[in-house]
Amino acid sequence: MPQELTVPSTIARFVTGASPSMLIDGAFVPAVSGETFDTLNPATGGLLARLPAADAPDVDRAVAAARRAFDSGPWATMKPYDRQRIMMRFADLVEARHEDLAILDTLDMGAPIQRMRGNLRRAVGMARFYAGLTTALRGETIANSIPGDFHTHTLREPVGVVGAIIPWNNPHIAFIWKVGAAIAAGCTVVLKPAEEASLSALWLGEMLLEAGLPNGVVNVVTGFGETAGAALSVHPGVDKIAFTGSTATGQAIVHAAANTLKRVSLELGGKSPNIVFNDADLDLAVPGAAMAAFTNSGQVCSAGTRLFVERGIYDEFVAAMTSYTRSLTVGNGLDGDTQLGPVVSQTQLERVTNYFEIGRAEGAAIASGGKRLTDGDYASGYFVPPTIFTDVHNEMRIAKEEIFGPVVSVMAFDDYESVIRLANASPFGLGGGVWTNDLNQATRTVSALRTGTVWVNCYGQMDPAVPFGGYRMSGYGREGGVEHLDEFLETKAVWTQTH
Ligand code: ADP
Ligand code: MG
Repeated sequence: MPQELTVPSTIARFVTGASPSMLIDGAFVPAVSGETFDTLNPATGGLLARLPAADAPDVDRAVAAARRAFDSGPWATMKPYDRQRIMMRFADLVEARHEDLAILDTLDMGAPIQRMRGNLRRAVGMARFYAGLTTALRGETIANSIPGDFHTHTLREPVGVVGAIIPWNNPHIAFIWKVGAAIAAGCTVVLKPAEEASLSALWLGEMLLEAGLPNGVVNVVTGFGETAGAALSVHPGVDKIAFTGSTATGQAIVHAAANTLKRVSLELGGKSPNIVFNDADLDLAVPGAAMAAFTNSGQVCSAGTRLFVERGIYDEFVAAMTSYTRSLTVGNGLDGDTQLGPVVSQTQLERVTNYFEIGRAEGAAIASGGKRLTDGDYASGYFVPPTIFTDVHNEMRIAKEEIFGPVVSVMAFDDYESVIRLANASPFGLGGGVWTNDLNQATRTVSALRTGTVWVNCYGQMDPAVPFGGYRMSGYGREGGVEHLDEFLETKAVWTQTH
């Protein structure tokens, strides 16, 4: 039997069939309706917790609290020094408890504990990065050409109440990413975590209070997208929606937000191209391209799921990648040896296995995987093996649609022009990769790809200081980097006449 972790006492209250409350105005409360929904462990199908099923009345309460905290509370007027101290204390709490946060997220959404532990530097680094930015806000003085003595300068002011809607694929990271930037700018927040994985958001909300964040500055409402998420998106008391999730939901949010013309930033789906040229270092490129697609069981918006391999190395590459892929350990994420966990839910399991059938019907071949795992302990969880489709054509559905599972579509190409055309023949534009030892080839590929990130001889690296976001239907706005704060700031121009 694999060595499994025991549940630490710090998180037992979230994962032993209990009914944790959600966070509104500094208090932990049930839904107004008293309704709950179940959140399950995807590795076993077992019940973790029953969470409040928030709906419009709960969102009203949370928005009122955030509104009050913004309009008359201390947060927006607090000196940057004081905001920074609170956020630094929060970062210290996250650092001290990260191991338990990692276990909580592994239980909630299935990702391997080794992957979750690997989030430590990013989680704590983001919290400190945004804390740092609180003291770095600045406007400009601008030379104008008006006759007379007129001076102009700009002020940067927080946009107001932010509705933050996050997905389940990396829950504690998604929380710190969205909330960190919003509160660093002086905004207040109503955050709705994904119904599939809400637990770490509740704990992080509690840690913010513990760090000294005033009541109502960050509220966490648990519930479904169609109810709580939709209520937040149309709410007239919300000034801005910051969303990460699927492209279809992003479109629904833009429609909902149009009603009050609230600002929206969107980090959506992808079908990212990953290009391997003949001269690439295969020792790097084979595992690199496999994990570009398979890490987190493919539940990554920027996963490199369209793999273009140059004809001269295609057969060798597919053979090497197949043997690498078969060596990956799929299992319960709590097992320290597990490299790929289950997918998040029954719905996601059905979606991914349905694409196995779609790919077969479209005439693609399967080099590895392609069938749900059901032996032994796999039977009760949502396990699929990493799957390689070969003989794929860029027009097939498996090459066009985001699967959000551990599935890669491999295509051969013959020359630079054709691979760039194919790589950009997608409505998405989130990530992209290029593997080559030719500097000129790398440089021109970086320029040619219409994507928000390009990785060269690597894939998937993220850092708090580096902006991330999409071109085209992968969304708009940038998260991470100093430009992230622009998403949560207004610019006020000030004209002053002196005489
Ligand atoms: P996925 O397909 O991975 O579940 P979604 O885009 O559906 O991705 O979910 C991402 C987040 O968006 C979740 O928090 C979900 O509850 C929320 N959501 C889903 N539908 C809506 C909606 N119509 N309005 C607002 N939020 C939504
Ligand atoms: Mg959903």
